[in-house]
Amino acid sequence: MNILITGANRGLGLALATEACKRGHHVIAGVRSPGSDAEGLQKLLAAFPEQVTILPLDVADENSVRYASEQAGSRLSSLDAVINSAAILLGRDQKLEQLDMEQVEQSFQINLYGPIVVLKHFLPLLRQGSQQVIINISSEAGSFAGAYGGDYSYALSKSALNMFSAQLKRELAPAGIIVHALHPGWIKTDMGGDQAPGDAASSAVGILNLVERKTTADELFIDHSGSAMRL
Ligand code: NDP
Repeated sequence: MNILITGANRGLGLALATEACKRGHHVIAGVRSPGSDAEGLQKLLAAFPEQVTILPLDVADENSVRYASEQAGSRLSSLDAVINSAAILLGRDQKLEQLDMEQVEQSFQINLYGPIVVLKHFLPLLRQGSQQVIINISSEAGSFAGAYGGDYSYALSKSALNMFSAQLKRELAPAGIIVHALHPGWIKTDMGGDQAPGDAASSAVGILNLVERKTTADELFIDHSGSAMRL
């Protein structure tokens, strides 16, 4: 399979790229700033030189996404999966009175508009693939049912990402393209921190099983094992 992964230079994105390579897939690794802070990805490229294509891809910049899609289109005839993993979590402890509206905008720019613009430009290539799957990495923080009165910008952007995923699922169902919004678990990454009980590698195994359709789920919003999450 040809699999596009955004934010592939660290955290869950890198774990997904690694697991996909181990399974013999070709990874188009979207990276905001190739070269900096991407040692893990460089190691992966060295280990699987035929299977990794690194593309500059800043999900907050439509020109960058368009250019990346053109680059991918010139190298590949089709794409079979897109995993939108890139995201930011800002203003962790801000209560409403302290909310920094610029950070709210930035969060929506990256966490919501990012996946939208990535899919807008990569969908033509994805339509040429087979057994296609789109995974928008969301979060339990975006669950209405689990609203916890914090992380406003992050939670709201993920909640809206779930809605975008629901819309897209409906639009692409006739084409046989699967769409999920997926909570990867609380995992040890720069975002998740050291206290997290889970690890990115195990989450990536579950997500790749969904990408390969070894695990299937009817629900839109699921976790990495394919179990339904409350919207
Ligand atoms: P990290 O903070 O470890 O990594 C975030 C990644 O997103 C980095 O690769 C970063 O690139 C990239 N990124 C940020 N902004 C952009 C941008 N504008 N363009 C391209 N890439 C960008 O996060 P995680 O790996 O933990 O998170 C992965 C996904 O999982 C996210 O969607 C997150 O919301 C979700 N999630 C994570 C949880 C956890 O416990 N870790 C829990 C629930 C959900 P750069 O190095 O350039 O900054």
